[in-house]
Amino acid sequence: MDFTGKIAIVTGGSRGIGRATACRLAELGAIVAVNYVKGADAAEAVVDQISSSGGEAIAVRADVADHGEAANMIDQVVARFGRLDVLVNNAGITRDGLIVRLKLEDWADVLKTNLGGAFNCTQAAAKKMIKQKEGAIVNISSIVGVIGNAGQSNYAAAKAGLIGLTKSVAKELAPRNIRVNAVAPGFIATEMTEEFNQELRATIAGRIPLGRFGVATEVAEAVVWLASDAAAYITGQTLIIDGGLAM
Ligand code: NAP
Repeated sequence: MDFTGKIAIVTGGSRGIGRATACRLAELGAIVAVNYVKGADAAEAVVDQISSSGGEAIAVRADVADHGEAANMIDQVVARFGRLDVLVNNAGITRDGLIVRLKLEDWADVLKTNLGGAFNCTQAAAKKMIKQKEGAIVNISSIVGVIGNAGQSNYAAAKAGLIGLTKSVAKELAPRNIRVNAVAPGFIATEMTEEFNQELRATIAGRIPLGRFGVATEVAEAVVWLASDAAAYITGQTLIIDGGLAM
């Protein structure tokens, strides 16, 4: 895989899966815009890590849930580097709660960030990629969007929505030489899953055929592959990366 001369944006690139994806893209030659919303220091740390390994990256603050901020971020990156080859819609949050107790605000925030954020960035990026007549978009969905999860109706709805968004946009943009795919990770050890206690962690691991949580680099590798020319004939797909959980 070679991303030399390619420009990439990774939303939520400051931590976890986004961070691993940004670093792997840079390692393979891409210039990477590392998006964040709150953690400027964490995003700068990713930029420093990439720079010290001989790569090139910038940190870009934008709340992807805000249509204007997302569009402005894409404009800023294209104004600076002249094009946009890869968009990874990774930014995501959880606000868990059982359906009867779920606050309207928690329902709305998760939909707005996890699904609305991907729509906002995809719409702005598509306008640039259509002009270039090439591009690749990878959406980070979740196994929860495929099989559901008690206490995560908001998250599951958003992640299932992302799979529908992926397929529809893939159909729209295929004639423009733009591919759109998704990954659906299972349980991955990041800050998002850090709050699980030891007992829950062991119970979940016991249900995973490979017997453990995944690590961020294992998701990043598949995301980067889908974004690369190695996957040139793949579009509209959702690749499950869950250690066999949903088999
Ligand atoms: P994480 O460690 O909690 O990191 C989340 C990232 O998203 C951070 O960089 C955060 O930036 C950013 N972010 C959150 N809200 C944002 C917003 N409104 N605008 C811009 N950036 C925003 O999460 P993760 O575990 O790496 O998860 C990454 C993606 O994978 C998410 O979409 C998640 O749903 C999905 N996923 C994770 C797992 C898992 O087990 N970890 C499994 C399946 C799918 P700030 O720090 O600046 O807020």
